Amino acid sequence: MKSRHFLSLAFFGFKTILFRQKKPILATIILTDSCNLSCRHCAVNNITGRMLSYRDVLAEMQAFYREGVRILFFCGGETLLWQDGGKNIRDLMKEAKKMGFYLVNLVTNGTLELNIPEADVLFLSLDGNRESHNLIRGDTYDQIMRNLNRAENCNICIYMAVNKLNYRHIEEVCQQAKEHPHLRSISFNFHTPYPGTESLTLDAEEKRVAVAAIKKMIVKGMPIFNLPSALDTYLENHWSRPCHQCVVSENKQRYLCGRCVEIDGLCRQCGYLFAVEFSLLCAGNPRAIYEMLRTYLKYI
Ligand code: SF4
Ligand code: SF4
Repeated sequence: MKSRHFLSLAFFGFKTILFRQKKPILATIILTDSCNLSCRHCAVNNITGRMLSYRDVLAEMQAFYREGVRILFFCGGETLLWQDGGKNIRDLMKEAKKMGFYLVNLVTNGTLELNIPEADVLFLSLDGNRESHNLIRGDTYDQIMRNLNRAENCNICIYMAVNKLNYRHIEEVCQQAKEHPHLRSISFNFHTPYPGTESLTLDAEEKRVAVAAIKKMIVKGMPIFNLPSALDTYLENHWSRPCHQCVVSENKQRYLCGRCVEIDGLCRQCGYLFAVEFSLLCAGNPRAIYEMLRTYLKYI
């Protein structure tokens, strides 16, 4: 990240803490809910099958920029399926950079070619070792590995959603993130029990085991893109939500924090660690700020 962008984000954080501002800085645009997979933990794929038009994506990006958002995510469905009139995800990333966003990231299931050097961070969903990943996401592990082996010049972060089927494989995936030449980091979330996916939720003891495994890996120097303070806070389930600094846009409809905000009672069971981290940072938690400076900057 450029140092002037870092200073600008630091100033935003300072104002947020001091004046208890509730302005967003991070936005996610959902380009489509179309997806070539049907993962066991997913409740948002292939509901409308719509693709946002190129014009509408640009308009939403411009609106977010005017509103002060500087960190942008593109998401799906499967993000890399998005196209409109000959434009693809790389065109959107270039436009976003031209508009002035500091960080432009995307999330992908990795089953399509991963040649997107414009992404500041490419979050690649990998939910365990071959066995647990395929159990959750269908028989896709080997295809993802082939795409990963071919992906050069990309800053790729594994994005692992921890649930009952894969929480024992955390150490294995961390090792892979450390050793694979095309992987730079790994980021964890915990399963958030959308209706119909409750059976994948970890119980209290399993959460403790998973958090202990992640913290052990942090101590061992694995490239983990999460804050230890947020892991502790997640276990205590004592943090302010929804996050007012994050906003999601789907089909031109806006949601504060996540699409999940409208599902009754779900926020109390939230496993999205970014929401925990933003909550701590925006409340001025000194430990989280210190860890953020040591962690985020290494991988962006
Ligand atoms: S790849 Fe993502 S959007 Fe598609 S089914 Fe899996 S979790 Fe859902
Ligand atoms: S806190 Fe945010 S990310 Fe978590 S469930 Fe609620 S809306 Fe979703």
